[in-house]
Amino acid sequence: MMRRKLAAGNWKMNGTSAALAELEYLALQHPAPTVDILICPPSTLLTQAAAQSGSIAIGAQDCHANTSGAHTGDISAEMISDSGATAVILGHSERREDHDETSEQVRAKARAAHAAGLTAIICLGESEAQRDAANTLDIIAGQLAISTPDTATASNTVIAYEPIWAIGTGRVPTIEQIIEVHDFIREKLIERFGADIGDAIPLLYGGSVKPSNAAEIFTVANVDGALVGGASLKAEDFSPIISALE
Ligand code: PGA
Repeated sequence: MMRRKLAAGNWKMNGTSAALAELEYLALQHPAPTVDILICPPSTLLTQAAAQSGSIAIGAQDCHANTSGAHTGDISAEMISDSGATAVILGHSERREDHDETSEQVRAKARAAHAAGLTAIICLGESEAQRDAANTLDIIAGQLAISTPDTATASNTVIAYEPIWAIGTGRVPTIEQIIEVHDFIREKLIERFGADIGDAIPLLYGGSVKPSNAAEIFTVANVDGALVGGASLKAEDFSPIISALE
């Protein structure tokens, strides 16, 4: 099965318009990429980024489940699509933690993203305490089942496995741990959506991916790319990660 490969960068709450220069460098370095490249800047930069990102797709970091209405401070999937962006990260552990987002809410947001024609990048991951208690696969199974809507297809959905203890810490799971979780997610997707869709949905690993460890992580059969935080902020760091995936 040839799956789409994706190098995705999550800028989180970093970057004013000056940061768009990094996007420009990145596009210059990868004018004809053989993998999909996506940058998710803060929502204030979506329109500008989408207008000048060349070969690089642009995504948002969250959306509301409703299309419009009295939801001060939120943005809808339709607004994201209107900005020129084509994807949205949903259920990142920082949203689950900072905003008490539940998997039910993530599923509603993913449905809204699909209805607006966006690719939903649905994030899953266990805490360190959950891993220590040997609950990782149960947690992942629950988050995956509830957060993923029935509208998921191979072209509108990406699943990102991001162990919370590996995000921004410099700690990465062992290759065996990554294999175990990614194989498990693949199995669950095939069980639910059938082989055609379940085997074709791209799976990303996220959590302290760096130029120095990307190539090894990408050797894992069920790792189809990465969701990168800190190392996506500078083109000089993100570019070698993209090259490792190509
Ligand atoms: P990190 O973040 O690469 O800085 O660890 C990953 C993420 O939160 O998506």
